Amino acid sequence: MVRVRASLSRLPSYVPGRKLPGAVVLASNESPHGLLPGVAAALAESAGGVSRYPDLHASSLIEALAAHHGVEPDRIAVGAGSSEVCGQLLHTVVNPGDEVVFGWRSFEAYPILTAVAGGTAVRVPLREEALDLDAMAAAITDRTRLVFVCNPNNPTSTAVGARELTAFADRVPRDVLIVVDEAYREYADPARVPDGLALLGDRPNVAVLRTFSKAYGLAGLRVGYCVAPPGIAAHVRRTQVPFSVGDLAQRAAVVALGERDEVARRAALTVAERGRVAGRLRELGHDVPPSEANFMWLPLGADSADFARHCADGKVMVRPFPGEGVRVTIGLPEENDALLTLAASWRD
Ligand SMILES: *Cc1c(COP(=O)(O)O)cnc(C)c1O
Repeated sequence: MVRVRASLSRLPSYVPGRKLPGAVVLASNESPHGLLPGVAAALAESAGGVSRYPDLHASSLIEALAAHHGVEPDRIAVGAGSSEVCGQLLHTVVNPGDEVVFGWRSFEAYPILTAVAGGTAVRVPLREEALDLDAMAAAITDRTRLVFVCNPNNPTSTAVGARELTAFADRVPRDVLIVVDEAYREYADPARVPDGLALLGDRPNVAVLRTFSKAYGLAGLRVGYCVAPPGIAAHVRRTQVPFSVGDLAQRAAVVALGERDEVARRAALTVAERGRVAGRLRELGHDVPPSEANFMWLPLGADSADFARHCADGKVMVRPFPGEGVRVTIGLPEENDALLTLAASWRD
């Protein structure tokens, strides 16, 4: 018998948002606005080149990212989505049995990628739907090698502020890597939610994760990156699956990065819709934690699966976490209206 790793059979599987033909999909936190201008043309122009391997080092993309963030290129490492970069960061620091600390519930890829890397997940319960940074700092032991801070937190949508985050970083030992996952950065109010790179980027044990999958509208192409100290970024590059970021993804990301104003405009539309939808849901009696992302969290507990089923029956797909809550992505206004109509008719 082939002896497979026992730790893998205990792993939860990543649950993708359900797709139903003709349904409104508010389940995966994708941008509802489609491709950014210029991206479709760049893809069409480059499609003929895919019989060749892409640029292994993603040099043009890394140069563009370095200029975008005002950092040296040696601080950047890319991967097939920031999910792959999460895994790369884990492979960079985790030896078998080492501990990886994160809030729970948070991004569902963290426990999966931690186990794949041979690490031991330490889940620290949220407090009032938000990361409990004090408890997370207290959970760090001699075995801890990495701590994920998902800000804003997926799926609860809440964010931690600059003072809390700085105080947390001050408490984390220098030999523990802090990974600030900012997949939803573009939707957060900069007055309340810090830019992790600006706040902590000069620390020797901080890596900031960003992705092109959400506000940049490229979820299907798979490209994300981290900005880290050069020595860490170099190791993160070594752990990448060779050529995992294809040529189309690299080119599309460069074009998308140049569309800063349009990204901001679209994010502002989503933020305005978020305010409208949350307001209406509160009128309907829902408890909606303050969202700094492109989704909202309905902590429905035991009713979560029923709410999601009611929405699916009405052809609106949301993402239930049975027993805990339901995550609802902000879509286009008419899509959000469909959700609100269903929310109003639930248990009518
Ligand atoms: C969506 C998401 C990501 C990014 O996923 P990709 O692999 O880049 O598509 C990373 N972190 C969190 C918390 C997310 O919600």
